[in-house]
Amino acid sequence: MVICLGIESTAHTFSVGILKNKEILADARKTFTTLTGGMIPIEVQKHHYECKDEVLVQALEQSKINLEEIDFIAYSASPGLATSLKVGCEFAKELSEKWNKPLVAVNHIIGHLEEGKFFTEAKDPVFVFVSGANTQIIAHEGGKYRVFGEALSIAVGNLFDKFARELDIGFPGGPRIEQLALNGSYVQLPYVVKGMDVEFSGILTKCKQLYKKGISKENLCFSLQETAYSMLVEVTERALAHCNKNEVLVIGGVAASKRFCSMLEIMCKERDAKFYACPMKYSGDNGIQIAIAGMKMFKVKQGLVSNLVADFDPSLRVDKIETKWI
Ligand code: AMP
Ligand code: MG
Repeated sequence: MVICLGIESTAHTFSVGILKNKEILADARKTFTTLTGGMIPIEVQKHHYECKDEVLVQALEQSKINLEEIDFIAYSASPGLATSLKVGCEFAKELSEKWNKPLVAVNHIIGHLEEGKFFTEAKDPVFVFVSGANTQIIAHEGGKYRVFGEALSIAVGNLFDKFARELDIGFPGGPRIEQLALNGSYVQLPYVVKGMDVEFSGILTKCKQLYKKGISKENLCFSLQETAYSMLVEVTERALAHCNKNEVLVIGGVAASKRFCSMLEIMCKERDAKFYACPMKYSGDNGIQIAIAGMKMFKVKQGLVSNLVADFDPSLRVDKIETKWI
């Protein structure tokens, strides 16, 4: 029996998850939100500093275990906002030192990927990783998770969050845009796919211009979603063919979009591939994903760091990491 305490702190969410082998004992989270404006890194950091102890206490209460019973601590060490990562890293080091527990540094993207497999039947899928900061089409090849296509400038979640900011409908933008889109119809927007990569910044600029010209929020939200999702479905289909895989697994906060999931599902049906989505509850950032990945790494002695030198890296890419556990 192995018990892992996972700490997530790469962006808006501070979370502690506790995993006992494959059983979830606790999942405590606090997420920074705002009704106006966006995510200001220093404000998010303050949020994390203020809630970290409370989130830990909540997780321990849910799990009905105490810190002595934990075998090791896993923390999200990359990539993300430096200000947010710092809080989780410091907290993990502090707990590791105080309770004399080994520390495992986990890449947050690996957390999303392994969590997707944990919660579905997918074995070796093409991952469609769509979150606030990342948009990547990933598959496992040659001992690493490789990035086959990605957003060249802003991520799809960030596209929604930025446009929501323009519309002054608060953060996170995705769910609010999804609501407004229900009553919209199509206006033409730039559709930019370059090989396996997608480019969203032109769409954002165009949406801002059209909004100023008086096109309704509803029509723009609808068209924004349809265009961005169509681009992503196109590159996912190409990745399936290129990698010769027959499963698609969508992960990250934007996987909560019903429209996106239904578009991917249609494409999969047409190609005889299986479609999986990470359950909505676990599609966003959480400590359980860090514990799931940490558990796999711990078993093959990967990512172990001394609490004296443990650090974080805001920009470490997933394709730099050898996956010894696969
Ligand atoms: P993550 O960074 O993985 O936690 O995901 C957060 C991102 O998911 C934010 O950019 C949100 O706007 C986006 N998001 C959340 N729910 C939805 C939704 N229903 N439709 C589209 N985007 C969403
Ligand atoms: Mg994330």
